[in-house]
Amino acid sequence: MTDVPSPDIKECEACGERFFFARTLGGAVMPVNVKPDRTGNLAVHQDVAGTWHARVMRKGEEPRRHEKPHLPHFATCTRPADFRRRLAQARAERNKTTRNNRSHRRAAAAAAIEQPGLFRIESGR
Ligand SMILES: [Zn+2]
Repeated sequence: MTDVPSPDIKECEACGERFFFARTLGGAVMPVNVKPDRTGNLAVHQDVAGTWHARVMRKGEEPRRHEKPHLPHFATCTRPADFRRRLAQARAERNKTTRNNRSHRRAAAAAAIEQPGLFRIESGR
């Protein structure tokens, strides 16, 4: 059993299976089932910084010593369409939050410049 730290484990809202996100070689993030699976085509390992990595293996390829075979969650999800939709929703939600934070920061910066007194206090530290 790969030792996945529990805070990283998510539960699929569509089917209830547990998974975690691993980074692919291309830099994308992929949902991977927590349970290792010998039929899995993903070679998964955790680096020293704690980041999980998933490498897609060629047919018949064995995981290396530091890797464990896993299945992408899409492969076992009982409602993959539902799962993909929720993932896309979560991503869109995250992007929206980031955008909001950014425009909020811009607005705050603009407000500080419009009020020179406030800005001086800020920069005088
Ligand atoms: Zn699922």
